[in-house]
Amino acid sequence: MVEGFVVGELFTNCYIYVDEKTKEAMIVDPGERDESIDAFIDSSGLKVVAMVNTHCHFDHVGGNGYYREKYNVPLAIGYYDANCLKRTHLEAKIFGIEIEQSPEPDILLNDGDTLSVGFSKFKVIHTPGHTPGSICLYEPTEKILFSGDTLFFESVGRWDLPGGNYEILMDSVKRLFELPDDVVVYPGHGEPTQIGHEKMHNPFVK
Ligand SMILES: [Zn+2]
Repeated sequence: MVEGFVVGELFTNCYIYVDEKTKEAMIVDPGERDESIDAFIDSSGLKVVAMVNTHCHFDHVGGNGYYREKYNVPLAIGYYDANCLKRTHLEAKIFGIEIEQSPEPDILLNDGDTLSVGFSKFKVIHTPGHTPGSICLYEPTEKILFSGDTLFFESVGRWDLPGGNYEILMDSVKRLFELPDDVVVYPGHGEPTQIGHEKMHNPFVK
């Protein structure tokens, strides 16, 4: 199951994925430390086994240090966003937002890698375009996709920030559209959607 939390000034979705048979859990995009996240994890007796940043932007990574230490969990990010993560706290300052410097990632993810959470196996899909190292996480049995800032409800991520590229982003979105229509998409901002809905109604992709 997926539990969502809206955190920070940019209303970022932080998700906790729970494998209900084992109570193992994964944190996706801890945008910042938020008591409701801690309360959910602690009161449910979850064992956090993975923490992933879909990309390096400050609104998705501000809680990295706190949750990595609290739950003694390895931090994972896409291979091509590892460098950018070193500067994320400096980028945040430009927006007048203070976040602590992220710890170095423990795991660098490449396309086709698998992340296990209990019996669930998330496949890493490298989806550059919003950032060079953006990734999505796909669980084919559960039919869940964490899409970061690549694909939103009837929208796509910005391509005009450093490292962004429109054509490359479109290619990544088209790759996501090869997934089954009934896959539920949990984006980095806004409400969930489904692949089939986006294939029909996303105005950015023709
Ligand atoms: Zn972003």
